[in-house]
Amino acid sequence: MLRTHKLGEADRIITLLTRQHGRVRAVAKGVRKTTSRWGSRLEPFTHVDLQLAEGRNLDVITQADTIDAFPAHLGDHYDRYTAGTVMLETADRLVAEEKQPSLQQFLLLVGGLRAMTTGDRPPAQVLDSYLLRSLAVAGYAPSFDHCVQCGVEGPHRFFNPSAGGVMCAADKLPGSASPSAGTLQVMGALLAGDWPAVAAADARQLREASGLVSAFLHWHLERGLRSLEYVER
Ligand SMILES: [Zn+2]
Repeated sequence: MLRTHKLGEADRIITLLTRQHGRVRAVAKGVRKTTSRWGSRLEPFTHVDLQLAEGRNLDVITQADTIDAFPAHLGDHYDRYTAGTVMLETADRLVAEEKQPSLQQFLLLVGGLRAMTTGDRPPAQVLDSYLLRSLAVAGYAPSFDHCVQCGVEGPHRFFNPSAGGVMCAADKLPGSASPSAGTLQVMGALLAGDWPAVAAADARQLREASGLVSAFLHWHLERGLRSLEYVER
């Protein structure tokens, strides 16, 4: 469940990321009535087993069984909730086409939300790893070792979000960031899901990495994500 919109008096249009059919929009009838039989099953974050019936314009949800009630684990933790909201919004934007199968994005999102709810890792790290990986799946994998311009292997000192990764001193574009070598290593570890390497990083490197991940994300989505403003970094 990615997001919902009001429809008419009592209904909602629900935007979903599905395992088999990618991004789908469907109508939940009567969901805004206080006596709704849907309860909280059709709220953002919930992972449900759905049945849909073909409607005139949009499909109609006929049944929903909860698989994972992520909101129950996120609701009491502001930092987890806001980071999770960024994940939903990112998935919504990266899987733009409706009904195009996007199994990898689906699995990344469910895995990321599950990691967010356990609280085993800091929410910002789960989020940054998810953002880099979902961008990579969408075809925007950043390079942290080879210069994106000439391909020469680094380590390189400059990172440019719009160019797609690190740049050598000869190719660097104006406005490139010059993060520490450790920060670029952390970003590579976040992309690879190498958690021991992420855990070994210091706070300054993690903060710098978060800033660059945000810049990279903003570049690839035409406009910024509203929800990202609320994540503490
Ligand atoms: Zn170069």
